[in-house]
Amino acid sequence: MTFSWTAHRFSGGALALDVANSVILRHDDALRVDRFAVRENWEAFPAAAAKFCAERALFGDMITPTGSNKDGLITLREATDRYFRERVLGGSDELLLVDLLQAVAETLRQPKAVGTLGHATAHSALRLISMPEPERMKICGNCGWLFLDRSKNRSRAWCDMAVCGNRAKASRHYRRRKEEEGT
Ligand SMILES: [Zn+2]
Repeated sequence: MTFSWTAHRFSGGALALDVANSVILRHDDALRVDRFAVRENWEAFPAAAAKFCAERALFGDMITPTGSNKDGLITLREATDRYFRERVLGGSDELLLVDLLQAVAETLRQPKAVGTLGHATAHSALRLISMPEPERMKICGNCGWLFLDRSKNRSRAWCDMAVCGNRAKASRHYRRRKEEEGT
């Protein structure tokens, strides 16, 4: 099956989180998939982000990334995920923040960084570090993606109700039926 970047894959609500979420089931060594490991996927990401990302208005026309700046982007992605995941879980490891800031600095220092996916991602991460109401950042109860809960009463538990909310509901239903059947 060919892969495509759909609106669901931009459920993070911020570019840096959507980039972090390019790893599927990150917490599961056996099932994790890095969508950026396939060249076509990550080359197609900026165009999809320009269409679906909640921050698209901020980054305008992004330069299509080339292979030369991918390594830095992966370092930035991993530092982003580690720091914010820890923060959501209530940790306060200053070194993770240092790592993220360092990855941001290295990205911004790259020649011709302006307009690249890395540049836009770095700025997105900086905005998230100092975001008001940091408690709005959450981890999806189904897939483990990071996302911003912009709902009025901050009650969102899923990155995407239509996908993860329904899956969680279905598996609850399945478990209940199993229990009723006594198996
Ligand atoms: Zn999810």
